[in-house]
Amino acid sequence: MAETIHTLVIGGGQAGVAASTHLQKQGVAHVVLERSRIAERWRSERWDNLVANGPAWHDRFPDATFDDLDPEEFATKERIAEYFETFAKDRKLPIRTGVTVTKLECLGSGFRATTSAGVIEAENVIVATGPFQKPLIPTVVTDPGITQMHSNGYKNPDALPAGAVLVVGAGASGSQIAEELVRAGRRVYISIGPHDRPPRRYRGKDFVWWLGNLGKWNAKAPDPGTEHITIAVSGAYGGHTMDFRRLAAQGITLLGRAGAYADGVLQFAPDLTTNIENGDRNYLSVLEEADAYAKAQGLDLPEEREAHVLGPLPDCVTNPTLSLNLKEAGISAIIWATGFKPDFGWIEIDLFCEDGRPRHKDGVSEIPGLYFVGLPWLSCRGSAFIWGAWKDAERLAGLIAAPGQAASPS
Ligand SMILES: Cc1cc2nc3c(=O)[nH]c(=O)nc-3n(C[C@H](O)[C@H](O)[C@H](O)COP(=O)(O)OP(=O)(O)OC[C@H]3O[C@@H](n4cnc5c(N)ncnc54)[C@H](O)[C@@H]3O)c2cc1C
Repeated sequence: MAETIHTLVIGGGQAGVAASTHLQKQGVAHVVLERSRIAERWRSERWDNLVANGPAWHDRFPDATFDDLDPEEFATKERIAEYFETFAKDRKLPIRTGVTVTKLECLGSGFRATTSAGVIEAENVIVATGPFQKPLIPTVVTDPGITQMHSNGYKNPDALPAGAVLVVGAGASGSQIAEELVRAGRRVYISIGPHDRPPRRYRGKDFVWWLGNLGKWNAKAPDPGTEHITIAVSGAYGGHTMDFRRLAAQGITLLGRAGAYADGVLQFAPDLTTNIENGDRNYLSVLEEADAYAKAQGLDLPEEREAHVLGPLPDCVTNPTLSLNLKEAGISAIIWATGFKPDFGWIEIDLFCEDGRPRHKDGVSEIPGLYFVGLPWLSCRGSAFIWGAWKDAERLAGLIAAPGQAASPS
């Protein structure tokens, strides 16, 4: 016989933990099913030296601080996983680990979840299985002599074969991995597409503070044409601005967007200068908006005019390499830091767009009782981040506790 519960949460990462916390606060009977361990992706799908992209005062739930860290420090990925585990334990959240949901179906009213530990029926379901689910690798490189992996499988420089490394993608993951590799003495190439690269700190404040005060975390949707722009930031080595001129000065060869591969040769688009200049434009626009904000608010923050001065473009940008014979370049490994795609194949409900994303408004799906939390841009830019998932989970738990107030999706 099926177990029944009012609300089922699927996934025990930060979004599932946040959902459970708010359901508990609202007195909603629920259970969370996590196929592995709490915060599993922070444990096993991220590289060894990863630290949070935001400082400890920011990248956390409002209900608990990182007591052992300086607020400006960047928590290690182990510390983040431990934070969520302790958070769940302290609040006795009803999380069952080691249980995979293999199928979710709609009943006439409510849902049936088939799991590795039996069947559960629930009136409401919150899907919290992650913003970054299935690795996306855009190009097929068929060279058995080259080790290839997605960034979610990269661990550390020593785990790669000797030789040069090509990192494809220059968001937070790709740019951080490339820097780690060059610091470890590797010859490194990085393929750079469109990206934003806000300053790490400006006029004494971290960029997460600026993005909050400039209203960018709460932005409802990306500006048209910027949907696929990644954000190159880093908390590594104490945190510094991701500046591709600096990476080039460290010895990394910058390349344009990776294209087709044939006969051992990978092509790169002639877009490197454009991508670097657009990244610079984004960086400078944050400085300018920050200056305007500081002036309008009468904030007494130290001037930082030197931050507005960018050096000349390096030679690898002005004379870009447009094709690379991988063997001749000595490349032994390729790390695809090229993002993720959704993986909702186990939800047998007619709810998904062609690209695999669910139709929803601010996490409320078209199917009454079915909710999503933690997805990129679920309700705003912050939704896939730690504090953003918390805010969305709070709102969704409120809707579940008081269904009469539930906004119907448009
Ligand atoms: C490299 C990297 C660095 C990041 N750094 C930061 C940062 O510094 N600060 C920040 O705020 N955000 C950061 N993020 C973004 C975001 O915080 C993380 O992706 C975070 O892991 C998302 O949490 P989540 O709970 O939404 O999803 P996940 O962490 O992906 O958790 C989903 C959980 O669901 C489980 N699951 C999946 N399918 C099933 C199923 N069918 N049945 C049962 N369980 C299932 C998984 O095992 C997993 O534990 C980073 C992301 C990446 C990729």
